[in-house]
Amino acid sequence: MLEIKNLHVKLEEDDKVILKGVDLTVEAGKVHAIMGPNGSGKSTLSYVLSGRDGYEVTDGSATLDGEELLDMEPEERAAAGLFLAFQYPVEIPGVGNMTFLRTAVNAQRKARGEEEMSAGEFLKVVREKAKQLKIDAEMMKRPVNVGFSGGEKKRNEILQMAMLEPKMCILDETDSGLDVDAMKLVADGVNALRDEGRAFLVITHYQRLLDHIKPDVVHIMADGRIVKTGGPELALEVEHNGYAGILAEVL
Ligand code: ADP
Ligand code: MG
Ligand code: MG
Repeated sequence: MLEIKNLHVKLEEDDKVILKGVDLTVEAGKVHAIMGPNGSGKSTLSYVLSGRDGYEVTDGSATLDGEELLDMEPEERAAAGLFLAFQYPVEIPGVGNMTFLRTAVNAQRKARGEEEMSAGEFLKVVREKAKQLKIDAEMMKRPVNVGFSGGEKKRNEILQMAMLEPKMCILDETDSGLDVDAMKLVADGVNALRDEGRAFLVITHYQRLLDHIKPDVVHIMADGRIVKTGGPELALEVEHNGYAGILAEVL
């Protein structure tokens, strides 16, 4: 589903090379995790896939079901079925969460040549999905993310993901302050949305999240590359021995 080949990326501002040849294939129906020490380029990878400004791809490719993502505008990537969990965390006073999410869903539908959802229809679907995910839909009435607690932001993220029905979900759980409850929320959401037609890439510095989301494949990223790939046991190895042992072995 997602195929990244030899991806090289540098910062536009100072030509610093961050990604030095990332190779990664994520198959449909699978959950892959990327772990790695701070500064190894995990967030940069997710930003580049989302189409954020400030990064220059100097080599390589990233395709979603064979379509080149790196040539697309961010909204085209969303229409193609890519979802990045950090894409909509902004606080927007005065704009209702419901209106905001409906706009995102309809922009995606429009780009796919599908009919837009009416307010009534949207409300019905949101309520259904919120119920399935055991999320209180009351949050939808408040302005986007304004005054949301960490847990509410996570709930909102999962609901956004459920509504956009992406093929490929990328979650960059950078927040070292992600408490156990928030972590459970993310994990329950991912587990509920696991499907044979959908894949997840969960990026995390900490092993704890992977106690709740059982990954099929674990990758270790260091110095701008994937340096080791294995099963869930790789995450346990990191938990017990840290990154030093693995890095000594491969670098
Ligand atoms: P990780 O998510 O694995 O901690 P990052 O992708 O955040 O790693 O960062 C990788 C490296 O790139 C770090 O050395 C970081 O300082 C640098 N970096 C990333 N983005 C920027 C930026 N916009 N400006 C300056 N340095 C950056
Ligand atoms: Mg970091
Ligand atoms: Mg990061």
